[in-house]
Amino acid sequence: MKINRFGAVFQIAILLGSFTLLAQETTSQKQVSNYNYRDAFAPFFYTKNGTATRSASGQPGAEYWQNRADYKLTAVLSEKTNEITATDVITYTNNSTDAMSFLWLNLDQNLFREDSRGEAIVPVMGSRNGRQGQIFDGGHKIKSVKITKIDNKKINEVEAKYIISDTRMQLFLPEELKSKGGKVEFKIEFSYISPNEGSDRTGVLETKNGKIFTIAQWYPRMCVYDDIKGWNVNPYLGASEFYLEYGDFDISITAPSNHVVVCSGELTNPNEVFSAEELKKYNEAKVSENTVMIRSLEGVLAAKNNSTASKTWKFKLLNARDVSWASSAAFILDGARINLPSGKKSLALSVYPEESAGKEAWGRSTEYVKNSIENYSKRWFEYTYPVATNVAGNEGGMEYPGIVFCSWKSKGKRLWGVTDHEFGHNWFPMIVGSNERLFGWMDEGFNTFINTLSDIDFNNGEYKDEKEDMHESGASYTDPELEPVMTSPDNMKEAHIGDLCYSKPSAGLVILREQVLGPERFDLAFRTYIKRWAFKHPAPDDFFRTMENVGGEDLSWFWRGWFQNNWKFDQGVNAIKYVKNDPSKGVFITIENFEKLPMPVVLDIKFKSGKVDRVKLPVEIWQKNVEWTFKHNSTEEIESITLDPDHVFPDSNEENNIWTAAKGLVEKAIIADEYLGVYSNSRVPYKITVTEKNTFLNVDIPDYATFTVEPIGENMFESKRTGLKFKFKEDKSGFDLIVGEDRTIPFTKVK
Ligand SMILES: [Zn+2]
Repeated sequence: MKINRFGAVFQIAILLGSFTLLAQETTSQKQVSNYNYRDAFAPFFYTKNGTATRSASGQPGAEYWQNRADYKLTAVLSEKTNEITATDVITYTNNSTDAMSFLWLNLDQNLFREDSRGEAIVPVMGSRNGRQGQIFDGGHKIKSVKITKIDNKKINEVEAKYIISDTRMQLFLPEELKSKGGKVEFKIEFSYISPNEGSDRTGVLETKNGKIFTIAQWYPRMCVYDDIKGWNVNPYLGASEFYLEYGDFDISITAPSNHVVVCSGELTNPNEVFSAEELKKYNEAKVSENTVMIRSLEGVLAAKNNSTASKTWKFKLLNARDVSWASSAAFILDGARINLPSGKKSLALSVYPEESAGKEAWGRSTEYVKNSIENYSKRWFEYTYPVATNVAGNEGGMEYPGIVFCSWKSKGKRLWGVTDHEFGHNWFPMIVGSNERLFGWMDEGFNTFINTLSDIDFNNGEYKDEKEDMHESGASYTDPELEPVMTSPDNMKEAHIGDLCYSKPSAGLVILREQVLGPERFDLAFRTYIKRWAFKHPAPDDFFRTMENVGGEDLSWFWRGWFQNNWKFDQGVNAIKYVKNDPSKGVFITIENFEKLPMPVVLDIKFKSGKVDRVKLPVEIWQKNVEWTFKHNSTEEIESITLDPDHVFPDSNEENNIWTAAKGLVEKAIIADEYLGVYSNSRVPYKITVTEKNTFLNVDIPDYATFTVEPIGENMFESKRTGLKFKFKEDKSGFDLIVGEDRTIPFTKVK
């Protein structure tokens, strides 16, 4: 679906307000770190090992199975009553290792019944979901359910027993369906009245040349039976989308004769439904690089009020998880060829009313569709359907295999954006069939991420956005009010969905691509994920494991902080110390991680001469440290140090990101020279040598150990590793070696 950005922007505004206040209150105090590296890098991110069906490497296991649903659908549309009367013949194949005595189906139109659970949870303030206050007789009316075949054995159309509970139907089989390939065929006769605005995903729009019907979630569809939950029966409540089986579709739609009907599938009887002139143009479009008008406004006006009979449009769609369609007398229709990397072709089509026509608006739709599909095919995985149709409807934007519904009001950049987003969904979840009802981020988030690249690619950046400032959005993405990204959309506040399903997971993938793995390794891993799980059902672990196995990193810290938890991120620069207090000899820079999320470090060191050095440190510095000091080979005095100068990390507190010579702390270095020498005690059989190593004091005790010591007070040094302390005399003529709590051994300098 289309993102609702309003919520996100509003949250940024609120957060910035409170954030400034907070910063003002705390600037005078030393910031306390909430970072715990044991939590961030804890072992056992995965709660289960790989299985025979899902490999530990993230690919489908050797015994992976998936059930299948093939559909033969016939529908008749009534323009007057908005009613669809249809039959749904389903052939269900049980490839699982379990026999079945019942099946579960989705009856998603039941969301629009007055007594549905989804209607019950619409707040008084309203929602984009549900039926938008429309009073009508919504919901699937089931006329009959008949079993027609079991295991290729025709049976005498047995009436099947079933129970309907909200948006689900449990269908009982007259005999058990075998595991590993058992097949059952059954026929459902049903009808329903389309809502005008059905959860912003299906509807009826009045235009001056007739109604536009955008028809979806319209036929009883199989629930998924998988190796994770068995039957996936979460009801359709509105926010959470769909999880469906793959199969082939044979569709025929009967509509008034002056309608144009478009569908997920390829039109198989164009010469029965188009006029001779339309057919000629339709065939021209199939081989044209530029948009060809197939049914112009003149065609629409000529057919207006001229519907005496009906026509049946036939379509075919292979290997898809759903099918949707649109029908209207008001449709202008145009199209152009889509070129795919393998040399195959597809067809971009657009249908829209007179109100949406024109080069500023839907007149460019087909160009957008063509570019979007060609680009995603080149970057990630080749488009597999023979047609891609953009429909102007009253939805904000909604995706189905091979067809999308976008707002008839969208124009220019917004129309490009929504078209590209909805067609991006053809990769997630249409090709990669994840469970949208539970994991919105695996389709909306991944899609939003691929959209960020196509915006740059389209027409030399015609509609390119400014790069996201992660210091601004980072604070909003980690607002403590938010649920974790891994939450089901039905389990998050509606206002949070824009951030949690779309922007935050997308921003995470941008960070992973650009800052952690690099584009080459990321793209290979992401492409591998798509290829491995094309037309299959991946779960979150399958994605995480594939990115780690192909990308070659343990990314548990990243998944844990950004996806599984809502952890904040704040790095700060604390202090510097010049080597021997001399900027020409080098500098120690101390940085700190203040919040629970670790990230790699990027910082710019600007010197007084104007020269800038960029330093990059891997995330591993935070594996066992809250604070980290590193040496940089400076040759002159530093003017300033800036952490994350490009604003690519989600730093929720910018106040501590910059160190300046004017205000920042410069610590005094200990001058090591005066402590160096060889020390002895006549009753001890060895001498202790103190040297300098990398500006630190280095202690060598023969046959015992060599180690560095850190200053812990005036003339006082300690080695944490050995537990030894060294208390030097004021005049440096010797030291007391302190062992444990109370044992003191005096040493005197001998040279
Ligand atoms: Zn979407």
